[in-house]
Amino acid sequence: MSLVVQKFGGTSVADSQKILAAARKAIRTQQAGNQVLMVVSAMGKNTDVLVDLAAEITDRPPAREMDMLLSTGEQVSVALMAMAIQSLGAKAISLTGGQIGIRTDSTHTKARIKSISTERMRSLLDEGYIVIAAGFQGIDEDLNITTLGRGGSDTTAVALAAVLDADTCEIYTDVDGVYTTDPRLLPAARKMRQVSYDEMLELSSLGAGVMHSRAIEFGKKFAVPIHVRSSFTDIPGTMIVADPEAPDLSVSGAALVKDEALVTLSGVPDTPGTSLTLFSKIASRAVAVDMIVQNVGAAGLADISFTVPRDDLRATREAVEEARVELGAARCIERDDVSKVSVVGLGMARQTGVADRMFRALAEAGVNILMIATSEIKISVLVNRDQGADALRAVHRAFVLEREPAQKVASATSAKLAQSDALEIVAHLQGMEDLTITEVALDESQARVTIAGVPDRPGIAARVFEGIAAGGQFVDMIVQSIGHEEQASMSFTVPRGDLDKAMALVTGLAKELGCGAVSGSPRIAKLSVSGVGLRSHTDVAIRMFRALAGAGINVEMINTSEVRVNVVVDGKQGPPGLKALQAAFADVLG
Ligand code: ASP
Ligand code: MG
Repeated sequence: MSLVVQKFGGTSVADSQKILAAARKAIRTQQAGNQVLMVVSAMGKNTDVLVDLAAEITDRPPAREMDMLLSTGEQVSVALMAMAIQSLGAKAISLTGGQIGIRTDSTHTKARIKSISTERMRSLLDEGYIVIAAGFQGIDEDLNITTLGRGGSDTTAVALAAVLDADTCEIYTDVDGVYTTDPRLLPAARKMRQVSYDEMLELSSLGAGVMHSRAIEFGKKFAVPIHVRSSFTDIPGTMIVADPEAPDLSVSGAALVKDEALVTLSGVPDTPGTSLTLFSKIASRAVAVDMIVQNVGAAGLADISFTVPRDDLRATREAVEEARVELGAARCIERDDVSKVSVVGLGMARQTGVADRMFRALAEAGVNILMIATSEIKISVLVNRDQGADALRAVHRAFVLEREPAQKVASATSAKLAQSDALEIVAHLQGMEDLTITEVALDESQARVTIAGVPDRPGIAARVFEGIAAGGQFVDMIVQSIGHEEQASMSFTVPRGDLDKAMALVTGLAKELGCGAVSGSPRIAKLSVSGVGLRSHTDVAIRMFRALAGAGINVEMINTSEVRVNVVVDGKQGPPGLKALQAAFADVLG
C-alpha cells in the first residue's frame, strides 16, 4: 500500500474549520487507498505568540525552556487534528516528537535530527490509523524536548517521509506552488509544475520562502518527492524532485532579495589567509555572508566584496574593521541601498549565452550592475535598490519565464526509492542531518581574463559577454566587483584553449567601452567542494579557506552557491590545494 505524508502549515490549521478541512483531506487520501501520516504545525501565528510571551518575561529566555514552550504549539494542533478525524469517523492518533522517537542533538531551538524510530508509526499505520505527528520537535538523549528551528515542521515532514519511504510528501500551505518568481512582486510569474531540488535550494535561499531549506536538502539527500500545494484547493501544486521542469531551458526562475548591504574591503594584501581572517570574524558574529567576490589583485593588492542582509550590517562592520586593522587593508566601503537579482536554472550549466542575455536585459532597462557573481546554476547581480523591481521584471521577461514550457515533464515519482535504498537510509540514520560532501574537485582546464577599470555605468557587462557569446565561447565563473578607487574590475574564466581568442575579442571591446587594461592568466586552477547541507552548514567556505591558508595557498577568486563553493588559485597550487581540501573534508566525504 502506498504511503502519503501530508504536512499542514500554520495557516492551514489556523482555526477549527481549517483543522476540519485538513482532516477531511487526510481521510479522502486514506479512502483512496493510501496510508496517511500527517505532520502538523502550530495553529496560525501561535509560535510567534509564544515567543512574544517569553519576551515579556525575560529578554534572555533559557533555550531549554524556550523549546519546552514552543513545542506546545504543535501539541495543541495534533490533539485537535486527531479529534477532528475521529469526529469524522476515521481512526486517528496524535504523537509528539518524543513519542515517535525523533532523536536530536541537544542544540536547543535549532536541534538537528539524529535518528527516527519507525516501528510505532508503522504498526499504527498498518492498523489503519491516520498518524498525526507534531512537527518541529524532538527529544535529545536525556529526553529534553528540542525544536528544529523556525519553520522546522517541513523538515519533520520530509524526514518522516524519508525514513518511511513514503511515495510523496505533500506540503500544504497558503501558496499553491512554487513560482518562477514571487508573484507578489511580479504578477506575470508562473506556477511551475516541477522544479529540481538544487534550483529550489537556490530559490529558497533567494527569499522565495516557500519551504525550509533544510527540508529541501533532506529531500535531495533521500530522494523524497515533495509536492508543494495549497490547502484550500485540490489543484496540483509544484513537485520538487531531482529533475527540472524543462531540462532544455537555461533558466527556471528569478528572484529578488531586496534588503542587502554591500561591503568591500579594498587594498587587502594578496596573501594566503586573508579570506579566512575576514570571514571567520564575520561568522563568529553569526552573520551569514551571501555573495562573495574576491577579485584578482592589482599591484599585489586584492579587493574582497561581499553582501550580507541589511540588518546585519552593523555587526558586520565591527568584524570588518577588526579584519582591516589586522590585515593592514586600505579601507572598507559599504552601501546599504542595494538589492540582489538572480536567475537560477539547472540547464545553464550546459549552455552558452545565458549571462549576456541577462546583462542585456538589465542594460536595456537602464540598470547599472554593481557586482556579479555566478555559480554553475545561478547568476546574481547586485543593483541599486530603487531599480530592483525593474531589474527583476526585465530579467523575468528576457527568459520568457511566464510561458509554460512545452517539454514533457519527467514523471514526478521517478525519484522514488527502491526498497533496498530505503534500508540503506535506515542504516544511515545516525547523523541523518550531517553535512555530506559529495565531491572535492580540481579543474585545471580553465584560464582567466581580467578587465581592469570597468566604468560604472549600465551596459558594459552586456557588451562584453555578447561579444564572447557571439564568438561561441563558453564562460564559466564571472565575477565583477567594485574595488579600489571606485573602479570595478571584471574577471571570467574560459576553457584554456580559448584564452587567446577571448583575449582578442575582449581587448578591442574594452578599449571601445573605455575600460582599462585587459590581462590573461593561462594557468589557474579551480578548486571546488560540492555537497548537500552547504546551506545549513555555513562553515564550509571557512573550512576551505582554513585548509588553503594552512597550505600557504593564496585564494584569487571565490564564488559560492547552495551546493558548491569554488575558489580559483594559481595554476601551480592546484594539486597541493586539492590535497589540502581532501584532508580537510575527509571526515564528511560521503
Ligand atoms: N511552528 C513552528 C514555527 O512557526 C514550526 C513550523 O511552523 O514549521 O516556526
Ligand atoms: Mg510555519
